[in-house]
Amino acid sequence: MTDRYAVIGNPVHHSKSPWIHAAFAAQTGQDLSYEAVLGELDGFEGQVLAMARGGVRGLNVTLPFKERALALADRVSDRARLAGAANTLLFAAGGVSADNTDGIGLMRDLQQRLHVQLAGRRLLVIGAGGAVRGILGPLIAAAPAGIDLHNRTLERARGLAEAFSGVAGAVTLAALGAGHLARAEPYDLVINGTSASLAGELPQIPSSVFRPGAVAYDLAYRLDGPTPFLTQAQAAGAGVVADGLGMLVEQAAEAFLLWRGVRPETAPVLQALRCRAAG
Ligand code: NAP
Repeated sequence: MTDRYAVIGNPVHHSKSPWIHAAFAAQTGQDLSYEAVLGELDGFEGQVLAMARGGVRGLNVTLPFKERALALADRVSDRARLAGAANTLLFAAGGVSADNTDGIGLMRDLQQRLHVQLAGRRLLVIGAGGAVRGILGPLIAAAPAGIDLHNRTLERARGLAEAFSGVAGAVTLAALGAGHLARAEPYDLVINGTSASLAGELPQIPSSVFRPGAVAYDLAYRLDGPTPFLTQAQAAGAGVVADGLGMLVEQAAEAFLLWRGVRPETAPVLQALRCRAAG
């Protein structure tokens, strides 16, 4: 029998997840269907539980429901608890399990596809929303020298630095306002974890944050060209610029592995997604 999965979000029509999971299923010979479902802002929890009762085996969860997905679960993985949000749900006889594969998705893209070294490096992360919460734990675990956090609303960056101080160990974690950022030593890796790119906007950061040859990574992606952040980074002398499409495919592969026990090959799916966008 065909097993059913879905991505739930609001809005959700733009989601690439149905295409990505269909490609994974074809590649691995798994008999499954995967659809995009518009989440109900007022009734998300009831909607999810009704889908589970109706035979759906698992869900990917996207904006704005990741915190609510975590809250409704019976079992929560350590990485989802640390992130305070879930992007993957698994339904089984014992109840609902929640996980967060965003962080591992970013790490696989950065370290395995782009071969970026993180140990001992200086990192700047811009943004303080759900996505940044999901990536901070794995970034800290990669033992950089330090991670500076900057956000339009500085209080939220301060809150994140505080929330993750208990797991930071030897990694220096600090929230920087605009003044400090302008005077900061340049960084080896700058991650844009804001949603500014989705509106074609740029987070207000000085070009001096990019050390010559630095890596610039935007969690957001646009299929019609580089995001404004990546354009700024390139002009400022960054050596490697990458958008979040690779992370998207990697976090999907981790969810697929959780659900099906099979890890799909991500490189051909990422390449096909880019070709599809170009053509
Ligand atoms: P979110 O929780 O809504 O947080 C949005 C963040 O962006 C906040 O820090 C907000 O600052 C900041 N922001 C929004 N507009 C801005 C602007 N014009 N200038 C400066 N800062 C701005 O969103 P999220 O879930 O963290 O998602 C963030 C991004 O990550 C989105 O682009 C999303 O598509 C992407 N993402 C990608 C993947 C992937 O697999 N590639 C996975 C997850 C998320 P304030 O606090 O000041 O409002």
